[in-house]
Amino acid sequence: MPSEKTPAIVLRTVEFSETSLIVTLFTREFGKISALAKGARRPKGPFESALDLLALVRIVFLRKSSDVLDLLTEAKLDRRFRAGARDLNRLYAGFYVAELLAELTDTHDPHPELFDAADQSLLALDGQISPATAVLWLELTALSRLGHLPTLDVCAACSREVEVVDRVPFGLLAGGLLCAACRSGQRQVVSVRAEIIGTMQRFLDATMDWRELVIPVDQRGELRGLLNNYLNHLMGHRSRLQSYLNGLTAADRGR
Ligand SMILES: [Zn+2]
Repeated sequence: MPSEKTPAIVLRTVEFSETSLIVTLFTREFGKISALAKGARRPKGPFESALDLLALVRIVFLRKSSDVLDLLTEAKLDRRFRAGARDLNRLYAGFYVAELLAELTDTHDPHPELFDAADQSLLALDGQISPATAVLWLELTALSRLGHLPTLDVCAACSREVEVVDRVPFGLLAGGLLCAACRSGQRQVVSVRAEIIGTMQRFLDATMDWRELVIPVDQRGELRGLLNNYLNHLMGHRSRLQSYLNGLTAADRGR
């Protein structure tokens, strides 16, 4: 049985027995894993309370066959997620990051760049950067890395270029902008302001430092609504945290 080492982010912990936890981790080298952490609930257990939600840890685990839990043998704390202690908006934003990673990625399917992005966004949430900025950047980066990014310049149905002026039709099921010819045949189409598409493109522009980006206040509600709808279709259900994200939009004015 191979013993594997990797940095990881704690996405979820569930009590398994009086002394053990089942931990869902997003690992840098192996993607999402679910592992049994024996003794993790004992005060002086082998994991020294490293298995906190959203903590960045270095783990060693034994990889089992696909239908059994992996076995966690070591977890050392690199960084705890502290933002939640000072600001509820940052706490919910952190929970949402964990939910996105858990829902959108598959077990044992590694995405190191997405891991690094998640690490950066959690670090940003722990600092001074607007939670709305950190959340939007991670959402778009995750969609991009996982091959689910909606088209923002060409028609999602026929790949012809779409002129983005005034308002443009956006197909939630088709996966992005729609040209005039394709629009009529599509279900679940919303009309989106051109500025909203422009903001999403700026957040995806790797030549810009996303930490410097601010979402204009008058775009926040519409942008949040669009991403909520798009992600709900992708995940097949409504995120339980979205009502908090809407609150984040309202509370988080400016930076
Ligand atoms: Zn088209």
